[in-house]
Amino acid sequence: MMFETQMNPHPANSSPPLKTLLWRGWCKKCPQCGEGPLYHRWLRLYDNCPKCGLKYLPDQGDLFGPLLFLDRALFLIPLIVIFFFRPWNLNLTAALILAGILLGLLVFTMPNRNGLSLAFDYHLRRKGGDLAGKNPPGKK
Ligand SMILES: [Zn+2]
Repeated sequence: MMFETQMNPHPANSSPPLKTLLWRGWCKKCPQCGEGPLYHRWLRLYDNCPKCGLKYLPDQGDLFGPLLFLDRALFLIPLIVIFFFRPWNLNLTAALILAGILLGLLVFTMPNRNGLSLAFDYHLRRKGGDLAGKNPPGKK
């Protein structure tokens, strides 16, 4: 297809920079084309990108798992700190409010952070040559 609309401003044969990939992930978009959605409901991941066909999790649990775990851990640490160490002499009400905000953020940004992990995983796959030789559809 010579005149296929191509939103991707980068040359077809080079991977976008990591920050672009991560931004796409955060926006819940396919890291490869930046157009296809990652989810079809709140947290239901598509198997493949509806736009470019990228398989999101070729080896489920390979990297995605540890990344997600790290992600959760990073969010849980402040909670633990708030309740067990009570820095700044927080009173319980303030601690509860803070914890509520953190938990809210934890849940609310979950798809975004999952997307980040996925984009990072994709970045590593590209670097590792996992996707080498597999030209995505729509790109020669
Ligand atoms: Zn895509």
